[in-house]
Amino acid sequence: MAPIQPGDSPGYTVHNAAIGLGSNLGNPLETIQKAWLDIQAHPGLFPVALSSPYHSEPVDMVSSRWFINAVGLVRTVLPPRSLLRFLQNIEQRYGRRHVPGQDGYDDRTLDLDLLLYEDAVISDEELTVPHPRMTERLFVMVPLVEVAAELIHPHHRKTMRTILRDLHKRKVRQKIMPRCWENGS
Ligand code: ADP
Ligand code: MG
Repeated sequence: MAPIQPGDSPGYTVHNAAIGLGSNLGNPLETIQKAWLDIQAHPGLFPVALSSPYHSEPVDMVSSRWFINAVGLVRTVLPPRSLLRFLQNIEQRYGRRHVPGQDGYDDRTLDLDLLLYEDAVISDEELTVPHPRMTERLFVMVPLVEVAAELIHPHHRKTMRTILRDLHKRKVRQKIMPRCWENGS
């Protein structure tokens, strides 16, 4: 076997990713705070920033239960599909059940979406990145702008701040209100 040379080690490439967190069942504020801790418990995930929480009316679904939403930024050595599977694993720990073949959206104890993974563009059965509906949703764009306003969207080639401003210009109406984390932070 050839001796190991400096530079041979594959090492780890660290990638930036944005995760959308949402909940409208149980104690949503507490669930999202706990899920954010679960995310950072993975040895390959490093927290960068968590937005403040927002109380938002359900979009594209009929429900009387408003959501709590936030966006977290991480740095990670996980490839995108491994990151998605890890997020789904956390969803399941909180009792989230994916009903195969069910159309539309349902109330959920925890929804974790991979919004962005560097400027990767991925589209297959399992994963679409950037998340296809993120730029139409105030409950994603408002917290995302709080933590990553200058990030460029890979499709739109505009900053998140500009995309949000355009949503406001188009008078997209989705009720959303800022909240505080329960520990006051
Ligand atoms: P939504 O988050 O849009 O309300 P769901 O959480 O019910 O919808 O959708 C989960 C499904 O979406 C999973 O089967 C997952 O494989 C797929 N999916 C595709 N792209 C993504 C993504 N970027 N983040 C999370 N789930 C995704
Ligand atoms: Mg989801």
